[in-house]
Amino acid sequence: MRYINTSNHTVSNYKYRWVKENKGALMMSTIQDQRLTSITVGELMISSEKVAHVQVNNPLEHALLVLVKSGYSAVPVLDSSYRLVGIIGKTVILNQTLGLERFEFEKLSDMRVHEVMSNDIPQLTKEDTLMKGLNSLINYPFACVQDKEGYFDGILTRRAILKEIKKDIYTAKQKTE
Ligand code: AMP
Repeated sequence: MRYINTSNHTVSNYKYRWVKENKGALMMSTIQDQRLTSITVGELMISSEKVAHVQVNNPLEHALLVLVKSGYSAVPVLDSSYRLVGIIGKTVILNQTLGLERFEFEKLSDMRVHEVMSNDIPQLTKEDTLMKGLNSLINYPFACVQDKEGYFDGILTRRAILKEIKKDIYTAKQKTE
């Protein structure tokens, strides 16, 4: 900062020196930004065939089985035409079955997924950018990807976004070394 004083001449000299010295890094960062913004959700998502899901009319016991066996805390809910309708997680199922004095296990077979699922789903399309995906994943561990008719295409997870950003940071580091 000692290069800056109130004289315009010194400020512009400083700016010139700074831009000259950091030109490589600036160009690199612009190229990196362009690369990141050109990546689409479709390139990063887990496609529907590999996503564990439940159907809207499944009993809660089936949903709990899928969640426990897959190890995921929440999975998408689809209707019989494979349209996205919600998300269901372990916590909501356990809360529903927890009565005042005991677990009411009979509710697991009596209640259906649509009665407890959440409709608050972060939604994306395959054409959306990585940046839009990143924004959706600030408050959710995954976002659902669907087409214009609402058919389920897959999910975008925090892991996928973080891996891509990490790749970018390492590439930038190697190029500037
Ligand atoms: P991750 O970022 O890999 O930890 O994934 C975040 C969340 O996405 C997990 O907790 C699951 O709820 C969901 N998820 C990830 N992969 C799958 C999958 N193959 N099938 C269903 N849900 C998944």
